[in-house]
Amino acid sequence: SSGLRIKELQVEYKNGQLALGQVNLDLPQHGIYTIIGPSGSGKSTLLRAIAGLLPGYQGELLFNGKSVHDKETLIGLVPQNYGLLPWKTVHDNIRMAMKITRPAGGSKQERETQIHQWLTSMGISELSGRYPLSLSGGQQQRVAIARAFAILPTILLLDEPFSALDVITREALQQIFLDNWLAHPATTLFVTHDVEEAILLGQKIIVMPSVKQETPEILDNTAVFA
Ligand code: ADP
Ligand code: ADP
Repeated sequence: SSGLRIKELQVEYKNGQLALGQVNLDLPQHGIYTIIGPSGSGKSTLLRAIAGLLPGYQGELLFNGKSVHDKETLIGLVPQNYGLLPWKTVHDNIRMAMKITRPAGGSKQERETQIHQWLTSMGISELSGRYPLSLSGGQQQRVAIARAFAILPTILLLDEPFSALDVITREALQQIFLDNWLAHPATTLFVTHDVEEAILLGQKIIVMPSVKQETPEILDNTAVFA
């Protein structure tokens, strides 16, 4: 039972909107799984459920046989709206995430070096002292990605993380994302509306159904990682 196991997940929002009808997924621990599907098919809701951001759901979310919400499973999320704290600088957004998730994670100096390295790898080291709302969408998106990488999560959830980037930056970041995954192979769920991106990045491609009663389909993407 190693990996991420989702059993009969059903999510209904408070207004009665059924967001996920019946999700069953069994995903090996070390992999990138891209998620595609029509708007409204529950892609964001699936990530929010795993991230622990929903007040309630039915079904089971297991990681290596235990609830994904156990303390030992560290979850990194890049939400669609970036989720940055507007009153903290870029640097402090990352520093705080690291401190909360790994309170014993090295000396202050080591942490500072790591923050600098994460910002540099995302091409945004010069934005360190800026506040999120003074940044473009694409810059905020890279800060959110750097923050999620920096906590070295066991499960990494990304909701259209490159949607606000120009084509050149997007291609560079796809490569950085893959390099980072090879160095830290988290169980990664990556929502995208771009089928080419889904094929480029995913070892498996999860296709969300348009009919809520159906479970998602999983396609093996042997062409890429064979
Ligand atoms: P996707 O990410 O695939 O576009 P979502 O997970 O955002 O799908 O939404 C799934 C369904 O749940 C949609 O019908 C959407 O309108 C609804 N939904 C999403 N968030 C909420 C919410 N906070 N309250 C009520 N309904 C919601
Ligand atoms: P996605 O692109 O994933 O479908 P949306 O743009 O639908 O995301 O959702 C953006 C925000 O609006 C989310 O926080 C979601 O929870 C909320 N939302 C989406 N649909 C509804 C809805 N029908 N009722 C209330 N909130 C919603």
